[in-house]
Amino acid sequence: MDLMTQLLAQDLTKSYTVPNGPPLEVLSGVTLSLQAGESAAILGPSGSGKSTLLAILGTLDRPTAGSLQLADVQPLQLPEPQLALFRSRHIGFVFQDHHLLPQCTVLENVLIPLLADGKPGKEDLQRARLLLKRVGLDERQDYRPSQLSGGQRQRVAIARAMVRQPTLLLADEPTGDLDRTTAETIAQVLVEMQQADDTMLIVVTHSLSLANRLQQRYELDQGKLQRMFDG
Ligand code: ADP
Repeated sequence: MDLMTQLLAQDLTKSYTVPNGPPLEVLSGVTLSLQAGESAAILGPSGSGKSTLLAILGTLDRPTAGSLQLADVQPLQLPEPQLALFRSRHIGFVFQDHHLLPQCTVLENVLIPLLADGKPGKEDLQRARLLLKRVGLDERQDYRPSQLSGGQRQRVAIARAMVRQPTLLLADEPTGDLDRTTAETIAQVLVEMQQADDTMLIVVTHSLSLANRLQQRYELDQGKLQRMFDG
């Protein structure tokens, strides 16, 4: 791993035990590396293992074999409590469904990842407000999620994912539930937020338009990840 490489996943294999049959190998020897501030899209048919790969890169799931290095740490070697701390410090997640807490305001939702460190301080509040400004929702900080549109909720989810300045931002179908115009805006916001903080970004998507906004495109098919070259 050279100095600039922040993410190195090598030879990841993932097999699931399934009823009445041999193990189902979903990933077979997936290798991916990214440098600080780089972005990549992962495309591929439904069921090809994209969410599985994202969960492994996000340390939410363990590969059957292979190694993962992120920000000079081998997270798979960490015991669970340290792994949870590492994950909350270094990895931000955006899902298709925003997963906002309905009883909390927009500002409180953005602050949630910071609660692991205790009560948010003045700088935390400043950071949360800055992010809400970046996603264009600074005037809605006291709203509840139910008072927002689907696109606005996803903006809050992006701000929340960025609040700890993660090394790696992972997004699983972030525009999957949105109409085309809203999806375009969210794709733009996602990339702007990533670039503002020089975060690495990996997005699983079916949207070529979103994939084309990122620096690299990969296709996952038959358990293999292959770089797609344009033209
Ligand atoms: P994608 O995100 O590309 O649609 P997934 O990663 O969700 O694909 O799933 C890939 C394959 O792995 C599918 O065939 C799915 O049924 C299977 N799979 C996912 N999770 C499990 C699990 N916990 N146990 C068994 N099989 C699983």
